[in-house]
Amino acid sequence: MSEFYDPYSNVVDVMTEAMKIGGMNQYMFDIIKNPQRETKVYLPVEMDDGTVQVFEGYRVQHSNIRGPFKGGIRFHQDCNLNEVKALATWMSLKCAVVNIPYGGAKGGVRVDPNTLSQRELRKLTRRYAFAIEPLIGADMDIPAPDVNTNSQTMAWILDTYSMLKGKPCPGVVTGKPLELGGSKGRNSATGRGVAISTKLILERDGKKLEDVSVAISGMGNVGGNAARILFHRGSKIVALSDVSGGIYCENGLDADEISEFLEQTGKQLNDYQKEGVRHITHEEVLTCKCDVLIPAALENQINADNAEQLQCSYIIEGANGPTSVAADALLEERGIVLVPDIFANSGGVIVSYFEWVQNIQILTWNREQVNKTLEKIMSAAFIEILEESQQSRCSLRMAAYIIALKRLIYAEEIKGIFP
Ligand code: GLU
Repeated sequence: MSEFYDPYSNVVDVMTEAMKIGGMNQYMFDIIKNPQRETKVYLPVEMDDGTVQVFEGYRVQHSNIRGPFKGGIRFHQDCNLNEVKALATWMSLKCAVVNIPYGGAKGGVRVDPNTLSQRELRKLTRRYAFAIEPLIGADMDIPAPDVNTNSQTMAWILDTYSMLKGKPCPGVVTGKPLELGGSKGRNSATGRGVAISTKLILERDGKKLEDVSVAISGMGNVGGNAARILFHRGSKIVALSDVSGGIYCENGLDADEISEFLEQTGKQLNDYQKEGVRHITHEEVLTCKCDVLIPAALENQINADNAEQLQCSYIIEGANGPTSVAADALLEERGIVLVPDIFANSGGVIVSYFEWVQNIQILTWNREQVNKTLEKIMSAAFIEILEESQQSRCSLRMAAYIIALKRLIYAEEIKGIFP
């Protein structure tokens, strides 16, 4: 039977274990595990046919002890407050582990954006931005793209917010279009960070990107960019999947050609035909024979039901929370090395930080500066994670959590409890 999966209890369970291994103060954990604020908003939208639909939206602000709240906004039909609460917690841990001066937050709207026209989507986004306007701001809480949102979504939020303030406020969101103050390299940053993480863990084991075969589940912003970057660096991409299913080719897929096919035709992977390419299920992509598996879609893809079937040696978590606690234990037993989400997909928020810094200082960085600084920050954080995992004799996930929690707790302790 499938295990019950609750993303928030999942993150709390992992934190609890890390607190134990790291020997940290329990009463501080009682403060840190809970978000500082959870907001739910109801968003009426007049649809193209004249009817009115009311959507639910959320913004959970987990922590701002280390800096302003920071985190993306997702549009998904299954989105709910509990999921957003988990995602906000992961953001606090993510920013802490790579040591950028942000807290954590996340937002979401419960909607399948594919069922809306562009006009309806714009109205919904603006109404959501209006509803959370009192909470956000360049020095308060800075949204960014996440699942099913992009630079266009950020442009609408930015404009709604700026209209209300009566002045341009580019620092209120990151991941916005270049023309509105976005950063070079932000769009591909999460995928680039996943590729950097892959390179770093392989290097630890004396291997190279050119030596490995890779399977990626999810061809959104994270999976798509990771596929292209790893393909350019010589890895053999053997399997890919999107919502329509998966494709497999033992001799390697051309990630450039596939990305172009998806972007230019608006079609999905089940429409992609090429000699030697087999169509397989999403589940088969996860369990196919490969060196590196990159889950880059939603939570709980790797769970107690399929963890025994995986045939990879490494997992690089492109998605947030793709592995359940039960699966984690099974993977560790099987000796599969896992690079945890809070580090592996931190490239997005790291370059968001660069974007925000550029906005505040009113200057621009070139692409090389962005990519180099990203790699520098991730490499430094990775060394710390490796050291912690050796010292505490624990998995990379536990090590990353221990580092992040120690930073959050230290900040909480020196600040003290108000009043
Ligand atoms: N949504 C991305 C994440 O989960 C990026 C967040 C951001 O840039 O603030 O990390």
